Amino acid sequence: MALLRCTTRLALRTPRRQLAAVPQTVSDDEFNKIKDELTSFMHDRIYPNEQLFLKQSHESRWTNGKEWTHPPLIVDLMQEAKQRGLWNLFLPADSAQLAPKGTHLGRGLTNLQYADLCELMGTSVHFEFAATACNCASPDTGNMETIARFGNEQQKEKWLSPLLDGSIRSCFAMTEPDVASSDATNISIDIRDDGDDFVVNGRKWWCTGAGSLHCKVMILMGKTDPDAKAFAQQSMLLVDLANTDGIELVRPLTVFGDDDAPKGHFELSFTDVRIPKSNVLWQRGKGFEIAQRRLGPGRIHHCMRCIGQMERALATMAQRAMKRVAFGKPLAARDSVLEDVARIRCEIDGCRHLVREAASLMDRKGNTDLETRQRLSLVKALVPHTLQSIADRAMQLHGGAGVSGDTPLTHIWATGRGLRLADGPDAVHWRKAGQLEFERQRASPLAPYGSYAPSRDAPSFRSTTDPLSEEAASFLVEFEALMKSS
Ligand SMILES: Cc1cc2nc3c(=O)[nH]c(=O)nc-3n(C[C@H](O)[C@H](O)[C@H](O)COP(=O)(O)OP(=O)(O)OC[C@H]3O[C@@H](n4cnc5c(N)ncnc54)[C@H](O)[C@@H]3O)c2cc1C
Repeated sequence: MALLRCTTRLALRTPRRQLAAVPQTVSDDEFNKIKDELTSFMHDRIYPNEQLFLKQSHESRWTNGKEWTHPPLIVDLMQEAKQRGLWNLFLPADSAQLAPKGTHLGRGLTNLQYADLCELMGTSVHFEFAATACNCASPDTGNMETIARFGNEQQKEKWLSPLLDGSIRSCFAMTEPDVASSDATNISIDIRDDGDDFVVNGRKWWCTGAGSLHCKVMILMGKTDPDAKAFAQQSMLLVDLANTDGIELVRPLTVFGDDDAPKGHFELSFTDVRIPKSNVLWQRGKGFEIAQRRLGPGRIHHCMRCIGQMERALATMAQRAMKRVAFGKPLAARDSVLEDVARIRCEIDGCRHLVREAASLMDRKGNTDLETRQRLSLVKALVPHTLQSIADRAMQLHGGAGVSGDTPLTHIWATGRGLRLADGPDAVHWRKAGQLEFERQRASPLAPYGSYAPSRDAPSFRSTTDPLSEEAASFLVEFEALMKSS
């Protein structure tokens, strides 16, 4: 088991929900060894097995009917990743300090260090194939960090430890079919008090991961206090899926026709579902606040992986352009293709820079800092969109092959497109980033120099009735006569 190398000096000296700085406890040399190991794992075990992973994932729905489980390949790779010290790499040192001792705590990396590794994992197709093998896939990473930060000791023992071990999976149920869920204040599934229990009635959808039999715990957000202030009406509850009556998996949703088995994205109904009040996360009425804070890790991991997907799309495009000859020249020799490739390089490096900067801000200033939040909103809005656009150009260069299943490009394109909604729509992230920009601009040192006010005291240019010079007057007379006669 890869153990967290953090010193007791650092442990738990800061209040658990206000952790601001993630200390770098893994030296650059040690980090490079982890990266080398992950690189070998990718080349030995991930890339050669991509087709098998997709085949087994798709087969799982036929061979197991409604009982979807991990493909056999993933079961093997999870064990191997654990043995190779590539397990739970996502868990930052500060969250790991809060996890139960004796579980798999990862390597104690910073978010910035993880950014490089997550990008590398993101070069695989499917984009969470390597991440799943290394226990670094969504929605579990966001859920694990949420339970680490907001769960009590019993909740962590019960749910966080098995999640970190990889023996169970989780899902996150926030979005509802009947309300615009990009605005979290709309979330309205009914949660009523009944003695020591809550009773839940209503519907959720797009619950990623709920299709798997390994998924044993759900974080459910709903309305416990409709009369409280707008941001204090919601609570988050931990739901024991295997032992709670009244929850129906209504149907798997599809993304561009793919049900994403064996994880799936499900519509769920809740009928008189009883959940003990002891299952509330953090405190009643804190659901909205937890949702805000959960967005940091959940969001940025997808963006890190997207950079890997961009590199994969560009590599695929470049190979094709160098080999394919049209009108007497390889496509790679055409100016428009050269420009496309150069522009894509700029786009990838620009996105990577922003993502690494956001990760570094998370390490240095924490997720709730305004600058961090703006960077997170910016990358969430920009990166999936850029991925989609790069995949689109790579598809075009491939001609008909580009839209076929013979390259990873349709998959990469669909990933970018889906992610433009999955953690909240682009428009909402741009909106948040724009609002935070206005806050920054109020304090900008350049604010006083923005506009130039003309002096009201200076003599004016001329008055409309000023007498004209002889030249100007005769020019006007000649010009007007010319216009009349021509
Ligand atoms: C593949 C996938 C996986 C997902 N996984 C999960 C999951 O595990 N758990 C979960 O709870 N949810 C999940 N979701 C749901 C996702 O988070 C929501 O779809 C998303 O937050 C948008 O909510 P909505 O669908 O209700 O859209 P709405 O809120 O109805 O918004 C619709 C559109 O309105 C526009 N819009 C909204 N607000 C503004 C604004 N302020 N300015 C301008 N335009 C605006 C946007 O274009 C937006 O796309 C997933 C979605 C997908 C596609």
